[in-house]
Amino acid sequence: MAANTEPIREAEKEPLNFIEEIIEEDLRSGRHTTIRTRFPPEPNGYLHIGHAKSICLNFGLARKYGGKCNLRYDDTNPTSEEQEYVDSILADIRWLGFEPDEILYASDYFDQLYEWAKVLIKKGLAYVDFSTPEEIAAQKGSPTVPGTPNKYRDTSPEENLALFERMKNGEFPDGHCVLRAKIDLASPNMHLRDPYMYRIKHAYHHRTGNKWCIYPMYDWAHGQCDSIERITHSICTLEFASHRPLYDWFIEQLGIFPSKQYEFARLNLTYTVMSKRKLLQLVQEGYVKGWDDPRMPTLSGLRRRGYTPESIREFAHRVGVAKRENIIDVSLLEFCIREDLNKRALRRFAVLRPLKLILTNYPEDRVEWLETENNPEDPSAGYRTVPFSRELYIEQEDFMENPPPKYFRLYPGGMVRLKSAYIVVCTGVERDAQGKITAVLCRYIPESRSGSDTSGLKVKGTIHWLSASHARIAEVRLYDRLFQVEDPASEEDFKKAINPNSLEIIPQALVEPALLNTKPGEHFQFMRLGYFCTDPDSTPEKPVFNRTVTLKDTWAKEAKKQHN
Ligand code: ATP
Ligand code: MG
Repeated sequence: MAANTEPIREAEKEPLNFIEEIIEEDLRSGRHTTIRTRFPPEPNGYLHIGHAKSICLNFGLARKYGGKCNLRYDDTNPTSEEQEYVDSILADIRWLGFEPDEILYASDYFDQLYEWAKVLIKKGLAYVDFSTPEEIAAQKGSPTVPGTPNKYRDTSPEENLALFERMKNGEFPDGHCVLRAKIDLASPNMHLRDPYMYRIKHAYHHRTGNKWCIYPMYDWAHGQCDSIERITHSICTLEFASHRPLYDWFIEQLGIFPSKQYEFARLNLTYTVMSKRKLLQLVQEGYVKGWDDPRMPTLSGLRRRGYTPESIREFAHRVGVAKRENIIDVSLLEFCIREDLNKRALRRFAVLRPLKLILTNYPEDRVEWLETENNPEDPSAGYRTVPFSRELYIEQEDFMENPPPKYFRLYPGGMVRLKSAYIVVCTGVERDAQGKITAVLCRYIPESRSGSDTSGLKVKGTIHWLSASHARIAEVRLYDRLFQVEDPASEEDFKKAINPNSLEIIPQALVEPALLNTKPGEHFQFMRLGYFCTDPDSTPEKPVFNRTVTLKDTWAKEAKKQHN
C-alpha cells in the first residue's frame, strides 16, 4: 500500500509541535539517526476519534521524518480482548490512510517478559507476594504516608524464582499471589511502591491460547515492548507521565534499549464520551445500534455517518499536540467535514417532507430535462439533467400561507425560483375536506428558465424541488448529538445525559433518480439540507441516507455562483 507516502497535508511550513521539536533535536544531535514510533491499542473495543489523534501523530511523525511506525496490539489482558476488535483496529488505521510498518502483539513478547522478570528476581528486585489485594493496598500507604514492607519482601531470590515458576505452572488459583517489583515503598511516586508485575489469570488468550496463566501488568509490559521494538519516541497520553519513572527504572535495571516516553494531552470532544468502557456500555445496553452507529465517536461510526479520512486527519492536525488537558468543540470536527465535502460531494435534489406543487399553466404530458451542475466547487464534476414536469414536490417548510416578514420562500402571491428551473408565482392552494393544504398552486414564467432567463424578474428566494412522477422513495436518517451536555463523562451517570432525540428517521423522503443505486459510503450534498452519505442498509428498492452534517450558510453563496 502506498498510503504512507501520501502527503498528509499541503502546508509543511507550520510551527513544530513540541514532539517534533524533540525529534528534530534528536536527529540533529545524532542521538538517533532515524525514528521509530508505535500505536499501541488494547484490542478491547473499536477505535475512536481520540485514537485517531494518536494514530495521526505517531504515523504522521514516522512519515514526516522518514521513520517507521508499528501497530502493536497491547493484548496483555485476555478477558476483555477479542479478534473482532483486532480486525476492526487494523481496518480503521488503513481507512485513515496509514499502513503499519509492522503489525505486532505484546503477547509475542510474553516469553521475553517472563525471562526478564526472572532477571529482576535474581537481582533481588522482584518478589512473589501472597498478601490479599486489600493488605497490599493498605501496606502501600498514601502519598503522604510511606508504605510498610511485609514479610514476603524479604524472601530470597532462589525461593522467589521457584515460586514464580510455580505461578507460571498453574499451581495457584487466580489471585492467589502476584509478582511485584521491589523498588521503594516510601517513594513519593506511588507507582514506584513495589508495583505489580504479574497476576494469575487462568484465562484463554486470543493468541497464546492456554499457554499462560500469568499475565503481565500493563506497566510491566509496556516499556519493555517499546524497548524490544527499539521505539525511539514512545508517545502516550498525559495520565502516563507519572508512570514514566517506573518504565525508566525497569529499562535501567534490565540494561535494555532505552525508549523515551513523551506525553501529550488526550483528545476530548464535547457532547460525547471517549472511554471504551462507556462506549461498550452504550453498545451493550442498546443505547446505540452498535459500535458503528453513526452517532458514536468511533471511527467506524464516523465513517458510516459520512466522515472522510481526510476530514479526520485535518481535524487531528488542527487540534494540535497539547501538553495540557482540554476539551475540543465538536463544531471543529463538523467544520472539517463540511470543508472537505464541499469540495467533493455531488449536489443532488432530495425532499425530506414533501408538499405537492402544481404548475397550472404547464402542459400535463410534458417533461423537460434541465441541466444542473454536479458541484459548483469542482467544474470537472460536470452537469446532469433533472426531470421537470407539471406536478412537483417541494419541502413543506418552503411554503407558508401566512408568512412572517422577510420570508423569501413561497406564499400566496409570492414568487420564488425553482433551482435550475423556472420562476413560479403562487396563485393559491388546494385543501382536503379537513381544510389541510394538499397542494400549492403556481404559475410558471416560461421566459425565466435558468440559463436563458429573459423575464427580467428578480426573486429573493430559490428552493429545491423534485418532479413528482420521477421522485423515488428513500429513507433518510437525521442525527443529532448523542448527549445533551457538553461533558457527559463528568456527570454522575453519563447515560442520564443521553439525548432522546439523537436520531430521527424519515421513512418516506423523496430523492432524484440519480440517487438510486449509489454505493454505501458515497457522499452527496442534498441541496439546502446538508451532506449525506449512502448507508450500508440501502437496498436497490430503497436507498438509505445518513445525514453527515448540516450545511451552514453555504446555500446563499452557492445559489449566487450558479446564477440560479
Ligand atoms: P480508553 O480510555 O478509551 O480505554 P485507552 O487509552 O485505554 O483508551 P488504548 O487502546 O490503550 O485505549 O489506546 C491506544 C493508544 O491511543 C494509546 O497510546 C493512548 O494513549 C491513545 N489514546 C487513547 N485515547 C486517546 C485520546 N482520547 N486522545 C489521544 N490519544 C488517545
Ligand atoms: Mg490503554
